[in-house]
Amino acid sequence: MSDSLPLSLSRPVRRHLPEMAELLIVAEHIAQASRPWFNIEVLTELRDGRETFPLIAFRFGPKDPSLPVIGLFAGVHGLERIGTRVVLAYLRTLVELDRWDQVTQEMLKSTRLVVMPLVNPVGMFHQLRANGNRVDLMRNAPVRAEGLAAWHLFGGQRISPLLPWYQGKEGAPMEEEARALCDFVRREIFPAETAISVDVHSGYGQVDRLWFPYARTRAPVPDLPEILALKHLLDRSFPNHVYQVEPQSRHYLAHGDLWDYLYDAYRAERPEGHYLPFTLEMGSWLWVKKNWIQAFSALGYFNPRMPHRVRRTLRRHLFLFDLMHRAIRSPSPWCDLEPLERERLRQQGLELWYGGN
Ligand SMILES: [Zn+2]
Repeated sequence: MSDSLPLSLSRPVRRHLPEMAELLIVAEHIAQASRPWFNIEVLTELRDGRETFPLIAFRFGPKDPSLPVIGLFAGVHGLERIGTRVVLAYLRTLVELDRWDQVTQEMLKSTRLVVMPLVNPVGMFHQLRANGNRVDLMRNAPVRAEGLAAWHLFGGQRISPLLPWYQGKEGAPMEEEARALCDFVRREIFPAETAISVDVHSGYGQVDRLWFPYARTRAPVPDLPEILALKHLLDRSFPNHVYQVEPQSRHYLAHGDLWDYLYDAYRAERPEGHYLPFTLEMGSWLWVKKNWIQAFSALGYFNPRMPHRVRRTLRRHLFLFDLMHRAIRSPSPWCDLEPLERERLRQQGLELWYGGN
């Protein structure tokens, strides 16, 4: 593990960014477990005024980056604090299971788990969706959406950083956080032939959605058969699950989506492999509906407030990450599809999600 892990936080950071304090506690647990297959790394340090924020990543499992891998990401949007807590809750469970559970120990001998629990700490510190430069990291990749009207600011805009969904200046390099995430994914996920990632967000709609690419186009995603096969595994293994699985483009198109960018880059580099980047959008309107006073605060809109609802949210998604982890360990039912089966699933996926086209 890295010995440069900063374990002290300034008082303002501790006070306004409890997620970072919790992240360091989890890092401490992971370090104390002193397992050679656990690794903690500071990818970069972000500066903001007097404060410094480490971008921390974890790796579990063997060093060989070609082994099947699952990635977990959260805190890309600074207002969506609960996502970071959901991912940290999973890490706590995993580290405890690794102490005694032979199934988990076996899983971590043959698969890898890579995690960035808090991608945008400066934004979270300042209670912003965007980062410290007021750039929306999820609109910051060099990807243009097709046929997206300029007035549709929600899909990304270059008019002003004072408005939300700012993509950054035309032609400027990506923001430091976005670059660090992309470098991490290229290094840790691209070498693998079987890979899944889940980026945890909150604040959209009433139900929990599991989105897959694209955000830039309504055209179907090339891995449509694999995604549908994986959805079937989810539906059959957990028939009471809560997720609505669908392409992001069903809801809105957006410029600069990091996962579109990484998905296309992976396919260009490794056409024979399968990397499925999902976005988990936890529906927050239900939290708001049940506690309407939340609607008056920016944070309340994106995060559950009541303690029982926080606990419910923290445990609600553990089995999803576990299923994804099992799926990369046992890829044949969704990755090694016969051509005929692949075509059948593709047709089924087109009908289910793209109006049959
Ligand atoms: Zn978000």
